[in-house]
Amino acid sequence: MSERRFIPPHGNYRELLSYRKAVVVYDLTVGFCRRFLRQGDRTTGQMVQAARSGKGNVRETRSNHLKASPDTTYKTYRTYPLPPAPPCRKPPRPLRYSLGMEEPPFAFAEPDYPLGPLTRYRVGGPARWALLPRTMEEARAAYAWMAAQRTGGAPMRRLVLGGGSNVLISDRGIDGAVLVTTALDGIEALGNDRYRVECGAELGDLVQDVMLPNNYDGVGGLTGIPGTVGGAIYMNAGTVNGTTCQWLESVEVAGDGGSRTVTMDASCYGYRGQSFCPPGSLILQGVFRFRAAKADQRAVYEHYMQRRREKQPQGYCCGSVFKNPPGDHAGRLLEACGLKGTRRGGAVISPVHANFIMNEGGAAFDDILGLIRLCQTTVKQQCGVDLECEVIVLD
Ligand SMILES: Cc1cc2nc3c(=O)[nH]c(=O)nc-3n(C[C@H](O)[C@H](O)[C@H](O)COP(=O)(O)OP(=O)(O)OC[C@H]3O[C@@H](n4cnc5c(N)ncnc54)[C@H](O)[C@@H]3O)c2cc1C
Repeated sequence: MSERRFIPPHGNYRELLSYRKAVVVYDLTVGFCRRFLRQGDRTTGQMVQAARSGKGNVRETRSNHLKASPDTTYKTYRTYPLPPAPPCRKPPRPLRYSLGMEEPPFAFAEPDYPLGPLTRYRVGGPARWALLPRTMEEARAAYAWMAAQRTGGAPMRRLVLGGGSNVLISDRGIDGAVLVTTALDGIEALGNDRYRVECGAELGDLVQDVMLPNNYDGVGGLTGIPGTVGGAIYMNAGTVNGTTCQWLESVEVAGDGGSRTVTMDASCYGYRGQSFCPPGSLILQGVFRFRAAKADQRAVYEHYMQRRREKQPQGYCCGSVFKNPPGDHAGRLLEACGLKGTRRGGAVISPVHANFIMNEGGAAFDDILGLIRLCQTTVKQQCGVDLECEVIVLD
């Protein structure tokens, strides 16, 4: 969507739902909602700002969330386009697609689908097929199709993509099928502080819509982490204050042998990883069980958001590139080796935080990968430490 669109008061709910990618801002104060804000209206900007900072009565969500919980205030929603994507490099040469790959029999399958715009690095060529299921049933069917495909006698390459905030995809793309989860974003309250969350729901929405309103524990660990809940479970995303999997009761995973439900315990996950979902399998949904916190979680949220704004560079990146080695910090080692500010093509090791590599515009896969390899060899030579990639490199 290239221009700002408004749904007038008493507007068309069906039309609104068709803006799957639109960002919707709405105000819960009924009197205020009745006012129609014109494009460019200062108040509109303030609403968006307030929504983004989680302040006041203004909330922001994506329009497809409304499918899960339409309520009587829908007539006052207004839609905004997502921020424009930065320029994305064209793949240097077309993929040589595998012969014999079937056409997926789904209305939600797209051929030659560009993956770069779906990633935070804004790097990556096309997928031979992108599957964009909108319901759990479609996701199960899509995954079963992917798992059954063979090219040249071998299983077809398959990838699950969430918010793209922790992947570096080759400019040549993925010669296979990529299942994109972001439309699978339902969150259902089950009672007794338990929630069934679909894999494509944004982790930020789980924090904003479930954890903060109920003052649940764990906000400190999950605040400010971009991406989907499925990606967060796969990576066991978090911080020193806690990680995603510790709040999981069970998770449904689709793999080669169909889908199964895994009951969670502490042996199932560790530092930025887990053992129940191998690469290429699909986390369909998880059941979270939270508990009430003693401290005010809104204050905890504000504190950690502020810290991220102060300490982390803003721009196109995938957060920390390397895992912290035992007893040390990757960022400290990289800074000690004098790597901050090193450039390759459109990519740079952030001068703000050495463990972040930024795409400053038009960076190629090889630029970022080259910096990753440079960091690893330099730290090995100068400090004797092997840095392990946290970002998933898909060549
Ligand atoms: C600015 C910034 C700050 C960050 N800060 C943090 C932080 O503090 N802590 C932290 O842990 N991470 C952090 N990250 C990294 C990233 O946000 C997390 O790893 C996030 O959980 C990835 O989720 P995603 O949906 O974007 O996954 P993607 O990037 O889409 O995928 C990551 C991996 O998960 C797999 N995957 C995704 N969804 C599924 C699924 N449903 N089923 C199976 N596999 C799946 C993919 O195949 C891939 O291997 C940060 C990133 C950025 C850009």
